[in-house]
Amino acid sequence: MLHEPSCCCALISFLTLLRRQLVMASEKEAALAVTPSDSPTIFDKIISREIPHHVVYEDDKVLAFRDIRPQGPIHILVIPKVKDGLTGLSKAEERHIDILGRLLYVAKLVAKQEGLDDGFRIVINDGPQGCQAVYHIHVHVIGGRQMNWPPG
Ligand code: 5GP
Repeated sequence: MLHEPSCCCALISFLTLLRRQLVMASEKEAALAVTPSDSPTIFDKIISREIPHHVVYEDDKVLAFRDIRPQGPIHILVIPKVKDGLTGLSKAEERHIDILGRLLYVAKLVAKQEGLDDGFRIVINDGPQGCQAVYHIHVHVIGGRQMNWPPG
């Protein structure tokens, strides 16, 4: 009887880990199913308010909103309102330096706003091997739990 609480904790940890592995596998499959292109994406519909989303930050150039499939208690995407060919980081050119800097600065503002004072993870997936699923550059801000290293 004395061991029951720790057994429960171990089971919950195992199930949480299993769930995370399954989610990671499906995210990977979704990313691999997408053909990289400069076509409009779901993010254009988010920018134009055609589909609902939860905005956490907005200025004239950048929008930040909560990810629909959060990978942590806090998971926010920071995107440029105008893609300008930036489907991913690998397409960056010198003219994009200002917007790339702004995306990272807004990521920091959002992390502060969300109270992620003990740290957070910034991710920019690029291309099929980088598990990118949406070809409109975006910075993931993930926090509220302990991260692991190396990433999967
Ligand atoms: P990527 O794999 O391209 O780096 O990340 C794309 C992210 O966009 C994923 O984390 C995914 O959950 C998120 N996402 C995809 N569609 C939507 C949507 O319709 N709304 C929101 N808020 N996030 C989305």
